[in-house]
Amino acid sequence: MIELLGVHKSFGANEVLRGVSLEVAAGEVVVVLGPSGSGKSTLLRTINHLEKVDRGFISVDGELVGYRRAGRRLHELKEREILEQRAHIGFVFQNFNLFPHLTALENVVEAPIAHRRPRGQVYAEGRELLARVGLADKEDAYPRQLSGGQQQRVAIARALATKPKVVLFDEPTSALDPELVGEVLDVMRDLARTGTTMVVVTHEIGFAREVADRVVFLDAGVVVEEGTPGEVLDHPVHERTRAFLSKVL
Ligand code: ATP
Ligand code: MG
Repeated sequence: MIELLGVHKSFGANEVLRGVSLEVAAGEVVVVLGPSGSGKSTLLRTINHLEKVDRGFISVDGELVGYRRAGRRLHELKEREILEQRAHIGFVFQNFNLFPHLTALENVVEAPIAHRRPRGQVYAEGRELLARVGLADKEDAYPRQLSGGQQQRVAIARALATKPKVVLFDEPTSALDPELVGEVLDVMRDLARTGTTMVVVTHEIGFAREVADRVVFLDAGVVVEEGTPGEVLDHPVHERTRAFLSKVL
């Protein structure tokens, strides 16, 4: 469902991704671990073309991300086409990124409305999504009237509103007070159970152990180690993985 092949990305002289290859199958949940600055956010952002890669290829559901093939050449997609493509790749940010002037329901329906889908149907689906994340009674609340956990659940409903093929999560619980982490992880666990293809950057090792099909350890822009949670978390092969886990476990 997601395929990265030899992805390189630098910011100036700082080479942040140094040849990352990764495949995520349909319905698979992959948790990405790694130290601060190892390139986890950059990796996620390249998957929906929020960052352009310098080298390598990324495809989602067989479609090249950000580019169109024309013979042997690649042409970058137009902004409108990129937005269209991005609608199939849900993204949940650490800091929720809700529109402060829109209600919970308006936040959820904003993208599908912008894509000119029928309003009645979009609003009905938006309400269903809010119910699914346990916020049926909050549709008229503005983000400032919601707790962090509630805001993040609205953000997850919003990410699902365009019926994405995959959903990417960048440290979705790390801005939350500890007592609010569980409600967001519960929603993510539910999504995983219903077969959503997910890539999750998180330091929640318990979640990785319980929900992930595969754990990927990224360090200094390369995939150092990957495997089942049991393999990577309990029997890490590489010294760098061990050193990292000894700090977070
Ligand atoms: P954290 O766990 O702290 O979120 P991370 O693994 O997500 O870290 P990235 O945010 O991907 O790491 O950043 C990797 C490196 O790339 C860092 O050195 C960072 O300063 C740099 N970087 C990221 N985005 C940019 C940017 N837009 N411009 C310049 N440098 C950037
Ligand atoms: Mg990050």
